[in-house]
Amino acid sequence: MLNHIKALACLLILSLPASAADTSSLVSESTMSEWFNAFKQRATPAQMYNFLHAMPKGGDIHHHLSGAGMSEWWWDIATNSKQNGGYTYYTKTAPTLCNGYGTNEFGFNPQLLMFHTVSAFTYEQLSICEKNNYTLLTNLSKTQKQAFLNSIRLDKPHEGRDEFFQTHWQRLGDMLLNPHIQAYLLLKNMQAYQQENVMYLETQLQVTDMRFPDGSAYTPKATAELFVEMLESDAAVDTNVQVRFQLAIVRFLPNAEQQLEEAWTFVDGHRGYFVGINFVGREDNDKGYPLRFLSTLRKLRAQSPPVSLSVHAGESDEPNTHIKDTLLLGADRIGHGYNLIGDPDTLLMMRNSPYLVEINLISNLLLEYAESIDEHPFPEYLRTGVPVTLSTDDRGMWSSNLTDEYYLAVSHFDLSWDELVELNTNAIVHSFMSNEDRETLLLRLKKETQRFIDNRLNNTPIADVQQHYTFICSYAPAVCSE
Ligand SMILES: [Zn+2]
Repeated sequence: MLNHIKALACLLILSLPASAADTSSLVSESTMSEWFNAFKQRATPAQMYNFLHAMPKGGDIHHHLSGAGMSEWWWDIATNSKQNGGYTYYTKTAPTLCNGYGTNEFGFNPQLLMFHTVSAFTYEQLSICEKNNYTLLTNLSKTQKQAFLNSIRLDKPHEGRDEFFQTHWQRLGDMLLNPHIQAYLLLKNMQAYQQENVMYLETQLQVTDMRFPDGSAYTPKATAELFVEMLESDAAVDTNVQVRFQLAIVRFLPNAEQQLEEAWTFVDGHRGYFVGINFVGREDNDKGYPLRFLSTLRKLRAQSPPVSLSVHAGESDEPNTHIKDTLLLGADRIGHGYNLIGDPDTLLMMRNSPYLVEINLISNLLLEYAESIDEHPFPEYLRTGVPVTLSTDDRGMWSSNLTDEYYLAVSHFDLSWDELVELNTNAIVHSFMSNEDRETLLLRLKKETQRFIDNRLNNTPIADVQQHYTFICSYAPAVCSE
């Protein structure tokens, strides 16, 4: 299917009328390559960052909605009853051993985990001893609030993979089950992406297990309607950021096959905004190995037209065949693909193939798959014809954005202008939108890129970025200090 899509995209670009304006745009593209080479030589870190921030970016197609909430956004929305649907939240600020020794500290209600957040409905069911361990979110002291904010992002040198996988999601607790908070996080992401000129967002979310304030369950349909209502609100439409959804299933859970069947049926019945399925959860949990899902997917493909699949694979320290196995599942895109470099047969097969690898540089660094950006295999993929694009994964938990990913790529790997255009274009060409929507967005990208080129060649000044997220200021302080 993707071959057909890529051919369409090429045809679209090649078949534009060869007017005088187009001939001049070809000239300006080659001039832009020279301009960018010279700019790289003279630009300060802040000037390069401003350039990449202003550059029209195709999209972010590896993005987890609940991992993409900045800590401040979570707090603001969770404490605003107008935005959060009328829920009240408490968070754990003291670790008294109310339940004695030997409790499950690896489940979703660990007794000793600070800043575990619960709704009023859950809170009311706690013992008096347990209630004393929790504080109303709006009553946190200044120090406690700062610690709450820091508890759901990687902000300290000792924090990495385990902190992320084993504590962040557990801390978010009942807030993850509130579809209103998720919908507002979606709006905040769209508004932030408008600021950095990102055109498309394909985000991973869930429509199951959501709860009303009284603890009763939302149907998946009612949850989906809330997301769509937000997408069609004036505030969201004003951003001009196009959004599509993938349903995420947690790959290592005992009922993952059932989740997959339900997600497939849901997407098949709601094609339009819902465009694909993803498998999430840490890949070093062996229970979620790719081939576990082969028979279920073959059964589903015998029952209805295909649902697009983008699947996390190769987010792993050890060399293994997860990427090959994931392609055998029928995946159209691979999330991370970090260890593809250690599987030469699959690497060769993916050169000039329709299968794109979604690269997440900051995630791979902070979760300790890459010891440094310099050793990341991204440039090898990019420069041997493996389709790639840049994406953010769980940007809220890194406190970063898509510009940061581009900045790291340019500053470590000396990307050319043509390579930047390729990364931007790939995000749309390999998106799971309908062919018609994809063509429309590709034309918009082309037009906005041309305007950006013209402005650079005319020496139009680029505005300074006013507010940076914390990752880039810590990783490359010169970007923020000029
Ligand atoms: Zn991911």
